[in-house]
Amino acid sequence: MKLTHLVFASSNKNKVEEVETKLGGSIPLKGLTEIGCYVDIPETADTLDGNARMKAHYVHDQFGENCFADDTGLEVKALNNAPGVYSARYAGPQKNSADNVRKLLEELKSKDNREARFRTVICLLIDGHEYLFEGVVSGIISETPCGEGGFGYDPVFIPEGHSRTFAAMTMEEKNQISHRAKAIAALKIFLQQSGY
Ligand code: IMP
Repeated sequence: MKLTHLVFASSNKNKVEEVETKLGGSIPLKGLTEIGCYVDIPETADTLDGNARMKAHYVHDQFGENCFADDTGLEVKALNNAPGVYSARYAGPQKNSADNVRKLLEELKSKDNREARFRTVICLLIDGHEYLFEGVVSGIISETPCGEGGFGYDPVFIPEGHSRTFAAMTMEEKNQISHRAKAIAALKIFLQQSGY
């Protein structure tokens, strides 16, 4: 059945518009503020799947809406997949990207293996069913930060098959290969094939 709209569990209007475009624009998206949700939805699970599910279920339970939520983390092989679900607050609750990057480079100083991957998980709750989608991009952590664009760990992440960090790429270049773009593409295919 065609949907009148779908809620994306984000308060960031730009992010909602960007995802709506990536989904092909066939389903209007509403962000959290548009449904009257102004709280910081708890993200206290210890996995990316857990956090994405927690946010989607919160919106569904409190507002009775079909919705999806995402969660992303950087998983570094030599650090047993840390920072992972704790990526935003790796260096502390201030959630400072420069501090996080500094800590990551420090932790990797004594390691030979610099392999890492970004992983995005999306949880979709629709017509009483739950579906999970994933997008992954593998790469390595550079020795030093490079590039002015992007955010978070972009200055130290070099995707596989490339020689520049995400931060040294244009937004369009990053968007073609990113973990988030891949997860949204999987969601888009599902929605199309399911006739929504
Ligand atoms: P979120 O789940 O999208 O809020 O991402 C959690 C944290 O992961 C962010 O605060 C960033 O530190 C990191 N992160 C997520 N996506 C990216 C990305 O595309 N580039 C760099 N860092 C990212």
